Amino acid sequence: MNTKSEFAVPTLKEYPQIPVIQIGAMSHSKPFVAKAEHQQPLGFPGELVDDWQQVALRKMEELLGKYRALPVFLDSCVKCGACTDKCHYFLGTADPKNMPVARQDLLRNVYRRYFTFAGKHFPRLVGAIDLTEEVLEDWYRYYHQCSECRRCSVYCPFGIDTAEITMAGREILASVGVGQKYANEIIGKVHKLGNNLGLPGPAMINTLEGLEEEIEEDIGVAVKLPLDQAQADVLLVTPSADFFAEPHVDGLIGYAKVFHQAGISWTLSSYASEAANFGIFIGNYENMQKVAQRIRDAALELGVKRIVVGECGHAWRVAYSFWNTLIGPFDFLDPNYPVPQHVCEMTYDLIQRGALQFDRERNDDKVVTFHDSCNVSRASRMGNIPGGQFVIPRALIKAACNHFYDMAPETIHEHTFCCGGGGGLLTDDLLELRVKGSVPRMEAFKRVVEDHGVTHMAAICAICKSQFAKVFPYFEFEMDAIVSVHQLVGDALQLGVER
Ligand code: SF4
Ligand code: SF4
Repeated sequence: MNTKSEFAVPTLKEYPQIPVIQIGAMSHSKPFVAKAEHQQPLGFPGELVDDWQQVALRKMEELLGKYRALPVFLDSCVKCGACTDKCHYFLGTADPKNMPVARQDLLRNVYRRYFTFAGKHFPRLVGAIDLTEEVLEDWYRYYHQCSECRRCSVYCPFGIDTAEITMAGREILASVGVGQKYANEIIGKVHKLGNNLGLPGPAMINTLEGLEEEIEEDIGVAVKLPLDQAQADVLLVTPSADFFAEPHVDGLIGYAKVFHQAGISWTLSSYASEAANFGIFIGNYENMQKVAQRIRDAALELGVKRIVVGECGHAWRVAYSFWNTLIGPFDFLDPNYPVPQHVCEMTYDLIQRGALQFDRERNDDKVVTFHDSCNVSRASRMGNIPGGQFVIPRALIKAACNHFYDMAPETIHEHTFCCGGGGGLLTDDLLELRVKGSVPRMEAFKRVVEDHGVTHMAAICAICKSQFAKVFPYFEFEMDAIVSVHQLVGDALQLGVER
């Protein structure tokens, strides 16, 4: 892979170091603006509206009334500075506007000017500023340099969640006509065709049939990947990257092997062929609801008893935290299973019940570490044990592999670093940001590579997998050093062994 870049790739240090600030270091970084054809189907104006200041302030007022956390977060920062060095984008770029508190202030200073007594009457005293074109441009730049990973909120004594502020900032931007091309184009594809990639049903059939042939040639077992199978027990919704991208597709093969060996009837849906939900990235609950609704409709149409979600970080966050409100109730599903259920929870449960046997030696060519994905770690849970979202994926890896080492404690579990490409930033127009933002995770990875001979990093998020495959070569790691957890599970699973 050609990694020749137009920006200086940071050198990895042995331990993370707080950089000396470089004002404006990333002021050139911004994603492509969405065209009218990608804005309007989502209910946003096609381009910057003439009275954008009024529209933006009206939208801000609406969000302040609608989301009770937003005014609390804007009012309660005491500038203690605990969050300043916790953002991977600040650590990787040294731009002070990438400090979480500074990112919040972009919106906070305007909020103060128009919505607080002090800001209206004594703006200079409280740092309140007018909403100018320059401010709008800064919002666009720096709210697209936040992956909504929530790491900073873990360290804030008040739990101020910068992700919520970023989401509000992005929603205001889209409402005045300057949405982001990458995210909005993808949401439009889901509304039209059911998945982020814009794959029509016939292409899915070809892909799944091709994979079935591949598996049979490989292991001599007829493992099926059913599509639109009415009355199946389980509807699997998974990120569409699982159908094509590497290493994602090996994860899909792993899920299929688990279903096969456990004897569970299951199906994918051509109508709801996407677990990802970019509505959350742009902070717009109407679009989030519309994307999620396809899953409920497909589950009812197919008459399934359970819904299982594949390996995708933010999809799991949306499913775990928002599905019940957005598309519930799920009273038509089997009450004996959690709704929704993560595929890792399902596999873990089968292992606990002795339904799956493994030959771990098959993964002996790998020494594995695990990357906790932000949305799973800090915005959801798994299973019925505290910290299940940390325990369960590691239990699956250890069931399937003999050699596992965790990265440094301050970089895993709730302290995990974002891969650098989350939150709707996984686009090549933000490549410099993605490479620099991955530095803290790359440094932690390098340490286990050097200390323990780690060869592979496993993940349960489609975005993390794509991001690492892209950025690994910038730091002289192999692009295929990233694997799906269910690839490891599928490779070690003994098929045909009596349960
Ligand atoms: S949410 Fe994540 S990306 Fe955004 S400011 Fe906080 S640490 Fe940085
Ligand atoms: S840690 Fe919280 S209170 Fe302190 S500066 Fe950051 S956002 Fe403000």
